[in-house]
Amino acid sequence: MPSYRHLFFDLDHTLWDFERCSGETLEELFQEHQLHTLGMECVADFVVTFRNVNRQLWHQYGAGQITQQQLRESRFILVLNQLGVVQTDITAKLTEQYLLRCSSKSYLLPYAREVLDYLKEKYILHIITNGFDEVQSIKMASSGITGYFRHIVTSQKAGCHKPNRLIFDYARQLARALPEHCLMIGDSLEADIAGARNAGIDHVFYNYERLSHNETPTYEIQCLSELMKML
Ligand SMILES: [Mg+2]
Repeated sequence: MPSYRHLFFDLDHTLWDFERCSGETLEELFQEHQLHTLGMECVADFVVTFRNVNRQLWHQYGAGQITQQQLRESRFILVLNQLGVVQTDITAKLTEQYLLRCSSKSYLLPYAREVLDYLKEKYILHIITNGFDEVQSIKMASSGITGYFRHIVTSQKAGCHKPNRLIFDYARQLARALPEHCLMIGDSLEADIAGARNAGIDHVFYNYERLSHNETPTYEIQCLSELMKML
C-alpha cells in the first residue's frame, strides 16, 4: 500500500445516505400534499421515478449540459409528468420543500462514522463533491461530520465538476499534497473514479450496489468498513 497522507471523500452516496434521506423526504411530501389525490398510485412510484429522473439530471449536470438552476427547477416537473400528473402548480413548492428538508436529514451510510473516526487518526481527510455549497454544508452539519474534514471542495467553489481533473488539482493544491500521497474514495465510476484517474490520483471505488463493470480501479470495496483493513 503506497504512503497515502490525504484521503478525499465524495459525499453523496459515499458518506451521506442520499437514497435514505431523499426517500424519507419524498414520503413526507407525498403525505403532506396528498399526492395520491393527483392521480399518483403510490409513494414507491414517486420515490423510484424521482431517483431515475434525478440520476439522469445529475448526469446531464456533470456533463455540463444543464445548470444547477435547471436541475432544480425541472426535477419535480419531470417526475410529475412521468407519473401522468396534469396539475403541476405544486412543483415549485415541492422543489423548495425538498431542498430544505432533504439536506437536513442525517442518515449516513453503514460504517461511515466508524471509518471516519478510524481514518482521522492516520490521515488528513477532505471532501470533493459535485453538490452545491449551501446544500452540502447543511448535509454535513446535520449528520455531524463537518469536523472530520480539513477542506470541503464543492464543484461550485472549484468552478468545475468531477470528472474534470481541475477540481482534483484544485483540491490537491488546497491540501498542498502530491498526487502520490492522495487517495480518492467515491461511489461513481463516472465522476470519482474516472476523475481521479484523469488527475493521476489513486482511487477506491465504493461499489455498494455491486455493479458489474469493465473498469480497473486502483481498489474496489463493497462496504466502507473495508477501508479500516486497507488503510
Ligand atoms: Mg457520490
